[in-house]
Amino acid sequence: MTAQKALRHRTIGSWSDLQHWPILGPWLRWRHARTSAQAVLLFLALLVLYDGFFGPPLAPKNLAGVLPWVHWRGLVVLALLLAGNLFCFACPFLLPRRLAQRLFRPRRAWPRWLQGKWLALVLLVVFFWAYEVFDLWASPWLTAWVIITYFVAAFLIDGFFRGAAFCKHVCPIGQFNFLGSLASPSAVTIRDRGVCASCVTKDCIRGHVDSEGKLVQRGCELGLFQPRKVGNLDCTFCLDCVHACPYQNVTVRLRLPLVSELDPGVNRSGIGRLSNRPDWMLLVLGLTGLGLLNAFGMVSPVYQFLSWLSQTLRITSEGVLLAFMFLGGIGLLAVAAMLAGLVTSVLTGAPSRWWGFQRFVYSLAPLGFGMWTAHYLFHFLTGALTVVPLTQNFVFDVFGSALLGQPAWQLASLLPMNTVYEVVVLTLAAGFFGSVLWALALGRQLQLGFLAVLPWLVLHMALFLFGVWLLGQPMEMRGTLLG
Ligand code: SF4
Ligand code: SF4
Repeated sequence: MTAQKALRHRTIGSWSDLQHWPILGPWLRWRHARTSAQAVLLFLALLVLYDGFFGPPLAPKNLAGVLPWVHWRGLVVLALLLAGNLFCFACPFLLPRRLAQRLFRPRRAWPRWLQGKWLALVLLVVFFWAYEVFDLWASPWLTAWVIITYFVAAFLIDGFFRGAAFCKHVCPIGQFNFLGSLASPSAVTIRDRGVCASCVTKDCIRGHVDSEGKLVQRGCELGLFQPRKVGNLDCTFCLDCVHACPYQNVTVRLRLPLVSELDPGVNRSGIGRLSNRPDWMLLVLGLTGLGLLNAFGMVSPVYQFLSWLSQTLRITSEGVLLAFMFLGGIGLLAVAAMLAGLVTSVLTGAPSRWWGFQRFVYSLAPLGFGMWTAHYLFHFLTGALTVVPLTQNFVFDVFGSALLGQPAWQLASLLPMNTVYEVVVLTLAAGFFGSVLWALALGRQLQLGFLAVLPWLVLHMALFLFGVWLLGQPMEMRGTLLG
């Protein structure tokens, strides 16, 4: 790599390269960009914790009962859809974790038997089960404890194990964001392969050291080597690689979602072949199933279903019934996907009966994310304005005076209900089309006939129709005084 070539790459602009955008570009190149974003979210997290422990117990009147469940979730999916993995980038849980790394200087590797997404998947299922059983959304106090648990877990795990063990192997929110970022219109990527080919230091993965051999900038702790990185999976958008590369050959670039990520048979840096990763496959199934089940838990037919289940199994414990519902729902989806995969394998004469499943199960991801987005957008669009009276009420509680005026509790919805319904159904439809296009494009890439892909299209359609039915049911207005 010559200095002239590096300079040329620095100066050739491109509208898709976000580092060349005014204001945003210089900020992304600033070494403390991430810390500044994390500081903002840390401040908000501290406000939520304060109100959660000391504020009003009624959830719609408490920051902890509304900001995490209405605003944060809605903004997470919007950011993933419209920009990128902004909330991993700005994750406040990683600020204390950085302190832990300085204090304890961890050297231990994350245990091999815990590697992958298994633990995160179990935590995801447990979390959504607990969310329903303990009505986490209705308890500011429990919400505050969930946040504290998150801070402590990130601190302890990354204080004990080197690298980004918490983000890569444990964090359920991170795994959600990784899969959601398949739909994102941006990715952290290299500018020029030729520059990487002639690079000998590979700082983007090893970290950048100064002339005295001291590490001055971490490389990718998630194990993603830029020249072989594919798409967004496992990328927290931390920008360490951007700052570590001595040739400014890493940037954040706009892209067409999904296009580079279609084929699970491609070898990805830090991940390997997705077609050989049962943990990733189950994560996709789990998140897709949970997306539907989480919405099902908020519509009135769930009560009839649980009552039927209770009579059939002769079980009265709500926790056990919900466990059956969650595990049964994900199990049912897994069986349907395996059957679709089996048909694909048989029709293509594949050497293994798992071949079709291993290739096409990932096509469920856009639909699953579409369901999550539709659901979270529903709550966001029907409750976003509650932030106004909440802030007024919070200021009154803390300062004993209505400095921002009397709380305007009548404020809640951003849009009329009919429009909200149309927006969320369109969002789910976009996820459905993403899944259909994924399956068709992958089938074409693998030179399969239409019939071999058909079982997956049928599965997508069945899940889509179930999702539309769910969104058409009266949903609990959690996080507002109408709930
Ligand atoms: S991205 Fe990595 S491999 Fe490529 S030039 Fe930069 S440090 Fe070297
Ligand atoms: S260092 Fe790794 S996780 Fe961070 S932005 Fe770069 S590729 Fe993504």
